[in-house]
Amino acid sequence: MYNVYINCFFGVIGDVRLNKGGNVMKRFLSANAIKAYAVLLVTAGIIFAACMKTAERPEAVAYTEFLQMLEKGHVIEATLSDGAQFTFKALGGAYHITDNPRNPSLKEELLLKGVSVSEGSSTSAGDVAGSVLSAVFFCSVLVFVYKASNRQSPKSAMALNVQESTDQSRHFARFNDIAGNEEAKDSVSDIVDFLKNPEKYSRFGARMPRGVIFYGPPGTGKTLMAKAIAGEAEAPFYAVGGSDFVQMYVGVGAARIRELFQKAKNDGKAVIFIDEIDALGKKRSVGAQGGNDEREQALNALLTEMSGFSSEEGIVVIAATNRLDILDEALLRPGRFDRQVEIGLPDLQARKSILRLHQSNKPFSEEVDIDSLAKQTVFFSGAMLESLLNEAAIFAAKRLAEKIELEDVNKAYYTVLAGSEKKDRSGILELERRITAFHESGHALAAKLLCPASTVAKITIIPSSRGAGGFCVNIPPDKMFCTKKELKCQIMMNLAGRASEELFFGSENITTGASNDIEKSVALVKDYVTKYGMGESLMHTEASAHEECARLLDELYECAKSFLTCHKELLSSIAKELLEKESLNEDDLNRLVAAVTAA
Ligand code: ATP
Repeated sequence: MYNVYINCFFGVIGDVRLNKGGNVMKRFLSANAIKAYAVLLVTAGIIFAACMKTAERPEAVAYTEFLQMLEKGHVIEATLSDGAQFTFKALGGAYHITDNPRNPSLKEELLLKGVSVSEGSSTSAGDVAGSVLSAVFFCSVLVFVYKASNRQSPKSAMALNVQESTDQSRHFARFNDIAGNEEAKDSVSDIVDFLKNPEKYSRFGARMPRGVIFYGPPGTGKTLMAKAIAGEAEAPFYAVGGSDFVQMYVGVGAARIRELFQKAKNDGKAVIFIDEIDALGKKRSVGAQGGNDEREQALNALLTEMSGFSSEEGIVVIAATNRLDILDEALLRPGRFDRQVEIGLPDLQARKSILRLHQSNKPFSEEVDIDSLAKQTVFFSGAMLESLLNEAAIFAAKRLAEKIELEDVNKAYYTVLAGSEKKDRSGILELERRITAFHESGHALAAKLLCPASTVAKITIIPSSRGAGGFCVNIPPDKMFCTKKELKCQIMMNLAGRASEELFFGSENITTGASNDIEKSVALVKDYVTKYGMGESLMHTEASAHEECARLLDELYECAKSFLTCHKELLSSIAKELLEKESLNEDDLNRLVAAVTAA
């Protein structure tokens, strides 16, 4: 319901997305295979060339010369044949070739002169070596060409990039590596037991879910939970992405699914993890490319494979998605992904445990208070919390500090939320700085006075590397739901940046910097009217809902403007100090509010 309010000027702050390591092993292997073939080829070529060069090539001599050598006793060996020529070895070891007179008495003559005579082909040892090496060389060329062409073939397109973990000590997570998410851990503990002892359940005719879907926002630990199930059950873990099965060629995805299940079946028991299953199992009506043949074939193959293994087999398919509502119902039927487990954003207690878990291997100074950090990180996912501590550790390491100090954590906090500070600010005009300062002060003041339960953690006009010209971080209280009044205040707070621009610079000088605020306000107003039924009526046609949203948005904008007009002096003093200091924190804001209200 709530959102972390980071009202930013001149840009949108994107989600913090973790980069999951892809399986590069396969590419690495194929690159190595190419290298191996290249080395083989070159080596064979070099040996061949050397042999061709060094092999004893017989020197041709005239028959008369041969007779003279024979006479002098210089011939020690001869190989006679029916061919036009024959070879002989001279005293120094050199081989010669000469015309064969095909004289039947030649052999006797040679023997009488003490020459060792053999009969056979006239091929020299060098020729033999050369032939063998030629064969090796050409075989290498053939193998290389075959492999190269095979890489391009559709058969190799079937190969699936599976992230596979079978080494228990290195790749596997355990439930202890997951902080919070207690309900989710509870919901999957029987699956671990089933994977360990499938017979225990089949004896009672109990059928374990073949498929489990983890759903929830990005970075909440869905992949981690799947890995931990495999880790606890000591079962091999196969991780793939849903989009790996949606390929350009029809049939490839389905073949990949069959390949994946075959691999898992060969292991006896296994956890198959399909991340972003929506890429494969989206409802047909959802999205522009709904109803594509390849996706349907792959989905059918998945469903067939899931129905194809028996409960004793010890294979569990776990899928993850950020959007359960867009999945095809066929996937969620009994016997398929019939257990759905929510893995949501951590609450205060869970945030404390996640922070403690990731803090444990880092040297933090005592002034870093995990409890208060947990309070400041409402709506942070587990991944964001991990990234926050990691960024802080990087800042401390860069400073060559002994410990990670509060300043590192503060810097990391804003880096995780808004990206790092932009270093070169020389291109920013003074007028732009002023507009940004008044815009952000508008948000801060509205948040401070209209939503007093929330905390304005920081206001800054330092642009961020993610494109925000400035931003105001407003942390809402940890609550289960919010009231109609609170929703309206949030919308006004979002619109207060634009209202402040208009108030101080005139309606013709409002800027594009408010685009993200307007987007968020429109979304909230729509929810207010259609989702939460807080408008004039619970029932709406599309046109009436649209009309009411537009009216409410204009109304709340006017309210925000009047509110700021009433506090124009306070707003100016906040903007003035912001222009001087570039960043203000909660204490600065409290001091400025107290000073003006006391006067
Ligand atoms: P996405 O939806 O983007 O695929 P996800 O929900 O699968 O994300 P993970 O990839 O499992 O999230 O989490 C990323 C990282 O965040 C984990 O490797 C871990 O470091 C940290 N993390 C997330 N949740 C937790 C948690 N409950 N306890 C400890 N660490 C967590």
